[in-house]
Amino acid sequence: MIWSLKAIFRLLDIFNDSILRHRIMRLIFLLFILCNSLNGQSISSISPKSITGGIGEVLTIKGSGFGNNRGNSFVSFFNENLTYYNNTEGGAINYISWTDSEIKLEMPGAFSNRIKLVINGNSTFSTDTLHVVANLGYRQLNPLIYDLLTDNNGLGGVTWFVHPVFWKNPEIKQAIIDVISEFRCKTGVNYTIQEMTKWSPLNFSAGLHIIGPDSNLSVVGFNEKLWSSCIYGSETFYFNKTQLLRISTKQDWYYGKGKVPNGKSKFRYVLYHEIGHSLGLGHVNEIGQSMFPSVNFLPSDNWSERDSITTAEKNAIVVYVGKSQTFNFRACGISPMKKIINCRDVETSLNSISHTQKISELVIYPNPCVSDEISIKPLTQTINSTGSISIYNSIGALVLKDEYNAGQIHTVQILFPNGYYFVKIDLNNICYSKIIQVQK
Ligand SMILES: [Zn+2]
Repeated sequence: MIWSLKAIFRLLDIFNDSILRHRIMRLIFLLFILCNSLNGQSISSISPKSITGGIGEVLTIKGSGFGNNRGNSFVSFFNENLTYYNNTEGGAINYISWTDSEIKLEMPGAFSNRIKLVINGNSTFSTDTLHVVANLGYRQLNPLIYDLLTDNNGLGGVTWFVHPVFWKNPEIKQAIIDVISEFRCKTGVNYTIQEMTKWSPLNFSAGLHIIGPDSNLSVVGFNEKLWSSCIYGSETFYFNKTQLLRISTKQDWYYGKGKVPNGKSKFRYVLYHEIGHSLGLGHVNEIGQSMFPSVNFLPSDNWSERDSITTAEKNAIVVYVGKSQTFNFRACGISPMKKIINCRDVETSLNSISHTQKISELVIYPNPCVSDEISIKPLTQTINSTGSISIYNSIGALVLKDEYNAGQIHTVQILFPNGYYFVKIDLNNICYSKIIQVQK
């Protein structure tokens, strides 16, 4: 039974007597409760009451009158748009089982609130609130498909280039180091930082991951992602190719730890929030979580002093990092993010390479390179053994990345200036490396 609230309010406009109006409203509310129970459906329990969306956690709803199969019925969750899931969104959920008295489903992304159950067009709400403490964003819910992270810098992870305005300010640089370090140590993500030594606009054109100040930003911070995909055989792999992390210059920033002074915005806390986004986290409306949509002033100021991510955030990111480290897809030069050695080692260095290095077998000539190209001797006799070749300059920036066939002599055009370079070949999970000198 559906009441038209608009019609009721129009009816109520006739009455100016507030007591009468109050009584009528109470009567309507009681009728609403009665209608709900007349539908013959009710929720007796939900379990667990605190959950993470988007990581495959199972939610169990118990009660009666659910129907023996789902048909057009669905479970509806409150979400970031401050509305409940419609039938299309509710139908897209992965329902593990559906009986008249129990529904099991894979928890999608949602905001904390009571659960709505829509059985043959009739809605019932749970008495309990479902607390969604973290949400891991996905491309597709059933089955779960994410835009993963890869070995983006050829050193096993992602190098964030920090704008000189931030890098040269010791207070800001320390804040960035501490925050990245917290994510590395709690979640194992292979994120490192390096100074952006060459001017680059804060957009995707340079193909770099950049953390920098933005004077045009209308919000305090913003994480922007450029995803890409690679199709190989029947599989399409989605990944984040480049990301930007913009920080507004319009705020009066506090770069320190602990409680934020009155009227200031806590830089570290905003960074926790934006890096959380970069690691797949969506917003939640749970008080106390870094992914609460507002990041400065109240209510976030009530908990922004903690200088750490929460357990819920850590657990969700660990799932994402784990998937980014273990996927089997290999094409388009894509390989998984590698494990880190020392989580406090935040600055990108050639030492970040964690897998076996074979230096002796790699023969590159001429070295020093005096012409416009170098040649690399075959590493194996197997013609079809392909891997990737990456060349880094002395500060660790990637200057060339190419496919590499280990069975042939490989020539590389040297289009970069004089100096020392680090050549790295990844082949069948073994890393071969050698330093070359370019002297033209
Ligand atoms: Zn946000």
